Amino acid sequence: ETIQMKELADNLIEQHKIKADKPVSFTLSVEPEELTINADRAHTYNILSNLLDNAVKYSPDKADVSIFIEDEGNELSVKVTDKGIGIAPEKQTHIFDKFYRVPTGNLHNVKGFGLGLFYVRTLTEKMGGSIEVKSALGKGSTFILKLPQHENN
Ligand code: ATP
Ligand code: MG
Repeated sequence: ETIQMKELADNLIEQHKIKADKPVSFTLSVEPEELTINADRAHTYNILSNLLDNAVKYSPDKADVSIFIEDEGNELSVKVTDKGIGIAPEKQTHIFDKFYRVPTGNLHNVKGFGLGLFYVRTLTEKMGGSIEVKSALGKGSTFILKLPQHENN
């Protein structure tokens, strides 16, 4: 199905504002604004929902989250950036593993199963895309998601 990325992101932001337990502000940029993707809507929504969930959860006092969605030719790129606790370099390779949680996340009294990013990676790869993280401890994180513009399965 054809998904309007701006519309999908607006819905996601609205949902995450409602369920947030702290002040959150989202900045959204979609380039070009009418950008679409041909993919499963529920899968695309759930992937992004998990990334936004984490961005809010791992920003202790208030969350300031940016979402940049852009057309990269055959691929669509989505960057979700937060200014939260960040992830140490040696932990970054493990966060996509099933049930893995960085112990410092627990120090901030954040609950979870360590399944969100495992699910994100599994679904993303199933869709023919990729996911990576850039992060600095104490500064914040950016998750970079690439999805093919057209479903090939
Ligand atoms: P669940 O998503 O199952 O509710 P979770 O959030 O702990 O639980 P994941 O989403 O898989 O699990 O993330 C794995 C771990 O990676 C987290 O426990 C946390 O330590 C770290 N992490 C994920 N996203 C971020 C982020 N945006 N900033 C800092 N740490 C993060
Ligand atoms: Mg999570």
